[in-house]
Amino acid sequence: MDRKWVTQCALSRICGVCARPLGRPIAFLGTPREVGRNAFHLPPMHVACAVGLGEREETELVTTAGFEFVRPTREDDDRRPTFQPNSLL
Ligand SMILES: [Zn+2]
Repeated sequence: MDRKWVTQCALSRICGVCARPLGRPIAFLGTPREVGRNAFHLPPMHVACAVGLGEREETELVTTAGFEFVRPTREDDDRRPTFQPNSLL
């Protein structure tokens, strides 16, 4: 999943796996560190799509009703945008 696609998912509110519009809840997959920071790098997904993807990797799944798309600032070492769920379910 490249950065352009991740941004498109964020702005269009489409699923990063199947590209269909997102409803609620919205699922995010992340490493324990991403979950701890509440900042995810993978795009938002349907719960079913996230479960399918997550089975292949060491990730945790969180669900939320909404999220912020946060673009990196010049000061950030990590220049990738992140997704920050703002109403965890
Ligand atoms: Zn999907």
